[in-house]
Amino acid sequence: MHHERQIKQHGIPFGWHVPTQRMVDASSVANGLACECICSACSAPLQAKQGKVRAWHFAHHTDTNCQHAAEAAVHRMAKQLIEERQQVHVPERSFRKMLHGEKQVWSEEIAVTVQGSGLQVLTGCVAEKTIYGNNPQDGIRRPDVLALLDGHPLAIEIRNTHEVDIEKAAWLKQQGYSVLEIDIADTAFEPMESITTLLERRLFANSHLAQWLCHAGDDAAKRQLIELEADTRAKRREEELFLLAEMEAKALAEQKRIAARARLQDIDDFRLRLEDCTVRIGRNIRRVSLKVHGFTAKPAFSKIMNLAHRYGGQFNKKGKCWEFQPKQDIEAFFLQLCSEAEMVCLGTNRRTPGGVAPIPTPPTTPNVDGDSQSTFRIAPETDERFEERAAILQYDGGFSRQEAEELAGQNI
Ligand SMILES: [Zn+2]
Repeated sequence: MHHERQIKQHGIPFGWHVPTQRMVDASSVANGLACECICSACSAPLQAKQGKVRAWHFAHHTDTNCQHAAEAAVHRMAKQLIEERQQVHVPERSFRKMLHGEKQVWSEEIAVTVQGSGLQVLTGCVAEKTIYGNNPQDGIRRPDVLALLDGHPLAIEIRNTHEVDIEKAAWLKQQGYSVLEIDIADTAFEPMESITTLLERRLFANSHLAQWLCHAGDDAAKRQLIELEADTRAKRREEELFLLAEMEAKALAEQKRIAARARLQDIDDFRLRLEDCTVRIGRNIRRVSLKVHGFTAKPAFSKIMNLAHRYGGQFNKKGKCWEFQPKQDIEAFFLQLCSEAEMVCLGTNRRTPGGVAPIPTPPTTPNVDGDSQSTFRIAPETDERFEERAAILQYDGGFSRQEAEELAGQNI
């Protein structure tokens, strides 16, 4: 962590003044060996260094192998500061719990505060006092500082290089003590002149580096939290039932929406190439649709349109397709339309090398009304041709409405 040389160069911020039996800084005593101070770590004599260049500090009088003089000095000084001022700044301690209603319809955090944050006045504050367990076999421990806070026994542990050992904290908890740990490990090697200010801030102005390892009020607070939870749940129950009903209604509506969409969605489709276009025939549970994707020249388009009309297709402007709503057996109708469309497309796509289209095979004439085999009625030729052609030229061909109408007029 720190090299020995570094420590020696840094110096020792505080010494144990033997005549007054307390920690002092180098400006509170005489210079040199006359300071009457010893090292908190090794008890060897110190000399005060009241020089002109460096901040005043202490150093071992003779070269020793003492490696933790600075840390031991700030540790002992911290204990003394608390003991003399009978105060310490503590962090908040509270128990919190996130509550959720059934199916998470509500959430609320509840909390019971064991201890508020802030500078607290201590009573009977004493450093390094040995305490005995409640039973003879419990043994003894020596916390850094002992005091009473709001009538509860409090042990303060000043953390330097090592955290408070778990066994010691558990022992103190068992004996009914609150245990507060304050970390000062970073202060020993700060610039000499600022160490006292840093320590005072750490102990009395904030508690960012302090933590409760346990608190004498914990058990009571935990019981309160259980009561608070029961109260909160009871208060929320009416609202919870309302929200659950609302949630169920929403889920039902969503199910209906999904079912409705499923009815509209194609459950089957068939695609064919027609010149540079794709002819798609789709089927859902209530209708069959026929659509030409892409722009195709008039002869090919007309064949598809004629096919649609022969089978009673109604042009759906929004879907830009023909729709068929046979009264019975949609699947059979779908298959028949697919096979008819396949023949139309085959006939159109088959070209001779000379570019002359062969005469397409006429599609099988579907059964007409009155035939007992017929399931489908054939619609008469309608006057919708212009409208259909224009709509397709506009939407699939990418022409403006005006251009589409002009082209449709030439082609029909
Ligand atoms: Zn020493």
